[in-house]
Amino acid sequence: MKRIILNSIFFVLLFTILPDALLAQGRNEEGQTYILENSYDVVTLTPPTGKKVKNVILMIGDGMSLMHVYSAWTANRGKLNLDNSQAIGLSKTYCADRLITDSGAGGTALATGQKTNYHYVGVDTEGKPLKSLVDLASENGKSAGIAVTCRLWDATPATFCCHNIDRDNEAEIVADYVNCNADYVFGGGAKLFENREDGRNIFKELSNKGFQIPRSWDEVEKIKNGKVFAVVDSVDTPLPAERGDLLARASLKGIELLNQNTNGFFMMIEGSQIDDYGHFNDLDLLMQETHDFDRTIGKIYEWAAQDGETLVVITADHETGGLTLVDGDLEEGRIACKFSTGGHSGVMVPVYAFGPGSEKFTGIYENTAIFDKIKELLNL
Ligand SMILES: [Zn+2]
Repeated sequence: MKRIILNSIFFVLLFTILPDALLAQGRNEEGQTYILENSYDVVTLTPPTGKKVKNVILMIGDGMSLMHVYSAWTANRGKLNLDNSQAIGLSKTYCADRLITDSGAGGTALATGQKTNYHYVGVDTEGKPLKSLVDLASENGKSAGIAVTCRLWDATPATFCCHNIDRDNEAEIVADYVNCNADYVFGGGAKLFENREDGRNIFKELSNKGFQIPRSWDEVEKIKNGKVFAVVDSVDTPLPAERGDLLARASLKGIELLNQNTNGFFMMIEGSQIDDYGHFNDLDLLMQETHDFDRTIGKIYEWAAQDGETLVVITADHETGGLTLVDGDLEEGRIACKFSTGGHSGVMVPVYAFGPGSEKFTGIYENTAIFDKIKELLNL
């Protein structure tokens, strides 16, 4: 009897103390405030009409939900480039073996049209390699490209080029880029391309396959044609305040090169670190990344509006942080937010579309349907 009482006391203590302890070290329970000092302008665009879809640009805000978008919209005093979108849909992000997905399975659904297991990258639930939109575009005579702000072994870019049953097999994933069908790749992660434990130099192998290997933005900028594999940082690219509009520049450079193919192109652009600062529950950097992604969207929408034959689709792989906007002021550009988790949460994520074919993206559908719709529109 005494032992049962002691046991119960132990469990009561455990359940009253433990969650607080976990919360204290894992995330900030207090609300956080953010003010965007200088808001940025948004140009209202006239969407192109009546043309067919020649190119598709898929933009992924990793971990970006409607709450991120609405918070960023409030901080920018009631405007975002996303507001130029013509069609809106909702994507169901659960994966094959879990309700709450990760960027591996979430990215694989967008890249290959298959729901797979948590942490899987570019493979089905049996571990078999799947073809991505990059592969299909390439097989159909189109060019293909990727531009991200994170290390290239991170799950989202990897799901378009690499195949692995575990996203944490970082060195294996990097080596897999040798077989990547993209013509333009921009991102970070140089440290695992060279100085590898297996003695391979992935840059050399890519160079032997006909890629130019610029190692800085200055070198990337000078390139006028040909295949490019640009890894400009050792791990991730610097913080938004330091890197400026690097994602927009890298994306437009990719478009300039890929668009030289008269058959058209597919490109994936990722606002990679929206997810990271959701995990860290860091509202300041989370908003900086979300605004950087939106400013990149502005540049891409502007290019697509001029081109007329390019569909731009913007979505997320899942939500990160359980972000909630609890207070704010549109005139001051002030937001007060709380996070409910240091991980991912379960919620449908928005899908925005601009350009020809955008009407196909209205409605509520599986994340895999985004792949299906792009595949159909590009005739892949
Ligand atoms: Zn994440």
